[in-house]
Amino acid sequence: MEEHTRYLELCQLAEEYGRRYYVEDDPAVSDYEYDQLMAEIKAIEAAHPEWVSASSPTQHVGGGAINTFASVPHKVKMESLQDVFSIDELYAFDARVKAAVGPAAYSVEPKIDGLSVSLEYEHGRFVRGSTRGDGETGEDVTANLATIRSIPATIPADLPLLEVRGEVYMSHASFEKLMAAQLASGGKLPKNPRNAAAGSLRQKDARVAAERELDIFLFNVQQAEGVTFTSHVASLDQLRAWGLQTLPFYTRCETIEEAVAQVQRIGEMRDTLDFDIDGAVIKVDDLTLRRQMGSTAKYPKWAVAFKYPPEEKPTTLLDIEVSVGRTGALTPTAVFEPVQLAGTTVSRAVLHNQDFINALGVNVGDTIVVRKAGEIIPEVIAVQTRRSSAPFRLPDACPSCGAPLTREEDEAVLRCLNPACPAQLLRNLIHFASRDAMDIEGLGEALVEQLVDAGRLTSPADIYRLTKEDVASLERSGEKSAQNLLDAIEKSKQNELWRLIFGLGIRLIGAKAAKQLEAAFPDMDAILAASKEDFAAVEGFGEIMADSLWQYLSQEGSRALIAQLRDLGLNMTSAAPKGEGVLSGLTFVLTGILPTLTRQEASDMIEAAGGKTASSVSKKTSYVLAGEEAGSKLTKAQALGVPVIDEATFRAMLGE
Ligand code: NAD
Repeated sequence: MEEHTRYLELCQLAEEYGRRYYVEDDPAVSDYEYDQLMAEIKAIEAAHPEWVSASSPTQHVGGGAINTFASVPHKVKMESLQDVFSIDELYAFDARVKAAVGPAAYSVEPKIDGLSVSLEYEHGRFVRGSTRGDGETGEDVTANLATIRSIPATIPADLPLLEVRGEVYMSHASFEKLMAAQLASGGKLPKNPRNAAAGSLRQKDARVAAERELDIFLFNVQQAEGVTFTSHVASLDQLRAWGLQTLPFYTRCETIEEAVAQVQRIGEMRDTLDFDIDGAVIKVDDLTLRRQMGSTAKYPKWAVAFKYPPEEKPTTLLDIEVSVGRTGALTPTAVFEPVQLAGTTVSRAVLHNQDFINALGVNVGDTIVVRKAGEIIPEVIAVQTRRSSAPFRLPDACPSCGAPLTREEDEAVLRCLNPACPAQLLRNLIHFASRDAMDIEGLGEALVEQLVDAGRLTSPADIYRLTKEDVASLERSGEKSAQNLLDAIEKSKQNELWRLIFGLGIRLIGAKAAKQLEAAFPDMDAILAASKEDFAAVEGFGEIMADSLWQYLSQEGSRALIAQLRDLGLNMTSAAPKGEGVLSGLTFVLTGILPTLTRQEASDMIEAAGGKTASSVSKKTSYVLAGEEAGSKLTKAQALGVPVIDEATFRAMLGE
């Protein structure tokens, strides 16, 4: 591929990942993968400085403000930090400092893995708090921040203005509490404490944010009127004296050698902390020298963030558990002697399939090496000492129901195809009721398990046959919660058809495919009457998906289940198709911040007028609807000659 095209594609990918991470709090890839991508972009830019534009992901801080909250302009820019990955790079940083301003003392601090906010105090009163956003404009989250106990409403400092910057985070203890609560209620599980903190801070209802037990560590004075600081460390000491919660530790180091030693000490401390850190930050302490050094477009030149490599530790493999998933797939999980890694205790890691086990050559009793970076799922990376003569072998029969297992030609996984397998039933029911499928509030994993054990649920149809007595008779469920559950079940009968289709747990038919199916057929009867070819013609469907759906629907049991659900009163009709309109046949890509419309509003308007939206720009894109701070999608549109329009033109197209 031509290098420039590749460069634009990488930029576009980075922008999309950044949006998922910063705006949606739902990262698409691990931080490690993201950092690798950014490193590749930087390498290309170093070779081709002429390609770098203001919209390159290396030139702006990720994540614009979203329109849910009022926007707050930052008088002092909220900058990001330049990452370094080796001690040599720390010495190179010191050399740059010396060349610019002469020898300097440093402050060395933990880099808290949370999300950056600014707090403003006027005459000692907390008046406003905002997120970083794109560094220049953030979102007003004062109400949510006010629920954090360590943010005092008043401080004993009668200054006209004090703006401080800090990191909102969720402790491991609070994160575990949240996970347990979400598991029990069938709610969405956050990927890590950072995402949980970011999602909690963006709750519209401050009461929800309050329940999440967020906390904050302050790490900088952004601006102050009525007091002058000359040293960063001294400014943090002063914040602490005013009763503000600063970083739990920060150290002034006179030389780079001392600073490096402190970076190493913080690295050793990682395990013992009750919050995630993803590095250490080294900053020039003297504020006058900082001003002299200044900043690039994105980073201050007077600081760097040292990122610790993923941690690895040896441990003993105690067991390999084999479980059966919703689609009958067998998943082996390594259960090992618990180890502390990147701040959390880990004792399990997925071993994927037989091929993976063979490649490692692993078996129970071996000493294995496990790895976990702050945000990455723990993984077994090697066998250190082998006790066994051969790798572990997955069973030939389903560990739950004993049915023989099959392995499809092009697949690495083994599957149990017995539709009555109890392990599959349990996972199927949990999926059916989950938020992304039928969204039955209160019917979480724990309750489904109890109901299955009590013999009350043997299929999704049984959910609609539950009585108040069935539920109330279970441990820990009172009369009122039983009624709430029945109400939620009743309500789910009116769900859109795609939720039911997705909830059935048909292999390869995800939520998106289910929506496309609903859009293509008027009702369930039409779907039941369709042929394999009809399915293959549905937009977004390939032959394999069409085949899987057709296979499922040809089974007696599936048809009987759908008939029962119909008799129980579930909606079987597709929502009215989005009409033909002035935008029929046109595909739009949205980018940047529009003056008055949110992305959701704009895409609803496009769909209502018969048009479509897509997430990336290609030759098939009809228009790119761009707002302020449009990123690499805009660059790509220009490169491909796709017309770019603004909100006013868009509204004119709709005849407004
Ligand atoms: P960053 O998070 O690496 O560093 C800057 C931030 O560090 C500041 O905003 C500040 O809030 C914080 N910080 C914590 N402690 C600090 C201290 N003591 N002093 C100063 N600052 C401190 O930079 P970034 O640009 O916000 O984001 C890059 C990070 O986000 C990378 O780790 C990257 O992997 C991750 N990311 C991941 C994805 C993904 O898809 N997984 C996408 C985008 C970004």
